[in-house]
Amino acid sequence: MNNNELWQSVLAQMQLCISKANFATWFQNTEIISKEDGKIVISVPNAFSKEWLSNKYYKLMLKTFYDIDSSVKGLEFTINPQSLKNLVVKRTLEEEKINAEQLKFDEFKVNKETNLNPRYLFENFVVGSFNELAHAASLAVSENPGNAYNPLFIYGGVGLGKTHLIQAVGNKINSNLKKKRVKYISSEKFVSNIISAIRTKSMESFKASLSPIDVLIVDDVQFFAGKNKSQEEFFHVFNSLYEKNKQIILSSDRPPNAIPELEERLRSRFEGGMIADVNLPDYETRLVILKTKLQEKNLKLPEDILEYIASNVKKNIRELEGALNGLLIYYKTNNSVPDLEVVKKLLKSYVFSPFNVANYKKIIETVAKFYNLEEKNLFDPTRRKEIVKPRQIAMFLLRKELKYSFPSIARKFGNKDHTTVIYAYKKILQESEENNKLTEELSLIKQRVYSG
Ligand code: ADP
Ligand code: MG
Repeated sequence: MNNNELWQSVLAQMQLCISKANFATWFQNTEIISKEDGKIVISVPNAFSKEWLSNKYYKLMLKTFYDIDSSVKGLEFTINPQSLKNLVVKRTLEEEKINAEQLKFDEFKVNKETNLNPRYLFENFVVGSFNELAHAASLAVSENPGNAYNPLFIYGGVGLGKTHLIQAVGNKINSNLKKKRVKYISSEKFVSNIISAIRTKSMESFKASLSPIDVLIVDDVQFFAGKNKSQEEFFHVFNSLYEKNKQIILSSDRPPNAIPELEERLRSRFEGGMIADVNLPDYETRLVILKTKLQEKNLKLPEDILEYIASNVKKNIRELEGALNGLLIYYKTNNSVPDLEVVKKLLKSYVFSPFNVANYKKIIETVAKFYNLEEKNLFDPTRRKEIVKPRQIAMFLLRKELKYSFPSIARKFGNKDHTTVIYAYKKILQESEENNKLTEELSLIKQRVYSG
């Protein structure tokens, strides 16, 4: 067996043990470059792959090698960008017939019973250090609903894969032989159901409809902020399922302790299981995501175009997908692959520019929205705690992010005296050094200010 045959047999085995997306992610463009004295040297395209393969898959790979060839004693990974050359880069996509089917994005039918979209699967979810914990926890829950972590709470910014992940759990459980009743519902829908149940005096039947459920998935629970009646009803639904050992899965754009106007008892329920976040993927992972998406559609694009997208579309995964789909639609209508100059024009609206997004209006708007206040509340001359803190944070950010002078911030807030602003600035600075919750809130607010 030569090196290539050996590698192909190992890959064939590995493919059975890990998900399709992970396989595509970590084993693309790899090959054996030498085999001496039982030591195999495998070339990988970048440092990122090297790290992942040696940390996550070393044991499994070694065992697989050993089962095929017992003379193998150890593995080594070496970075060889040359191996990218093996990638078939095509300037034209002619060989890849694009048919209407491939370009019909997101047109899967949502399952009427579960409300799940069958497109959201573990198999097409790319895992990297930015979402590793959330992925692992979700997988554990899907394998042992009700018993692994309950509730499972996934949080993170817009377009980073929360809905995909929590629905993947639902779809996986739903595909098991032992039938469990899974229900996915957005918080918005939950709230509107509660409102109409109140109006039609049918609360009991609404709650009864949820009681036979084994797995309840509620998306975007930050939407419950300030909606007291819905929180109360949700609290009862939560408890009755939880007591029966039923699985509850929640998502939110922020951790439970940063959701404003959330009843304490509900917050503590949310915090009672596993909390995991999803972050922004880095450049290498963005590239992998693009390649995975293309592979799903059986398409290829030249490497330079993919690299351009991955280095410029940074806001979130939804935008990355949007940019890619934009190019594919261009291809479909023009029947040619856009060159880099055209790509740059097409993607103008996606390209992230950190310089023009933070401004006064944006900071005030974001802080108010984050704390569920109206903008004018921030300027109320009140000492109420719910307002003082957001106001101090707004002052802090105007200083820190925009370098406004203390007196000019004071004027914006109708203060004659700018020492109040200095006090606010110092207080937030000091507290953020001592208090993780505040640090996290500040970072979530900044993320929103800069990504809007
Ligand atoms: P969120 O709910 O956090 O706003 P979504 O789950 O709707 O984000 O994800 C936005 C889009 O990005 C979806 O089309 C989803 O399939 C895709 N996506 C997000 N994360 C990943 C990932 N890790 N791997 C592959 N696709 C992803
Ligand atoms: Mg979502």
